[in-house]
Amino acid sequence: MNIIIFGPPGAGKGTQAKKIINHFQVPHLSTGSIFRENIKNETPLGKKVKAFMDEGRLVPDDTVVDLVTDELNKEKYNNGVVLDGFPRTVAQAEALDSYFDKKGSQVDAFVTLSVPEEELVNRILSRGEGRSDDTPEKIKTRLKVYHDETAPVHSYYEKKGVIKVIDGLGSIEEIFERILKALS
Ligand code: AMP
Repeated sequence: MNIIIFGPPGAGKGTQAKKIINHFQVPHLSTGSIFRENIKNETPLGKKVKAFMDEGRLVPDDTVVDLVTDELNKEKYNNGVVLDGFPRTVAQAEALDSYFDKKGSQVDAFVTLSVPEEELVNRILSRGEGRSDDTPEKIKTRLKVYHDETAPVHSYYEKKGVIKVIDGLGSIEEIFERILKALS
């Protein structure tokens, strides 16, 4: 089962992705986490993406698509994946579709977490993960990037009929129950 967990920064994608992978026993692929790990380890990929991430801008599509397709080719993803933070542009969504097409696979569910904007900023500022892009100014950039470049991905999948919009307000458990219900 291939699931995309989608929503603006601070919507709770990472938290819910972890619960989904535990429940369905499918691996998690978070592009942001992979980038942060590469920055920490000062790898060539980390050096390439650091400036984009620090500014709250998107890493270029070709870099992200290469990373995700290489990763998805690993055996552990043979039975599915929970994609978190990818695709973030329509070009990435198209690249993912053509990858799945070649493998005879598809996106089975696209779960959008819906959270009001003022709540997003509060959540990011209070989560205290110490991320370099969690400052008020960077959050503003990330929300703008989300509206301009990422939100169209939702419309792209809407046309494919795989969208589940989930109310992202409430406790972690309540939100997870809504996701399970939508996926059943
Ligand atoms: P996240 O952990 O998903 O919030 O991602 C943190 C940052 O990593 C983003 O603000 C981007 O700079 C970068 N990033 C993660 N995933 C992508 C993606 N699919 N496309 C472009 N940039 C990405």
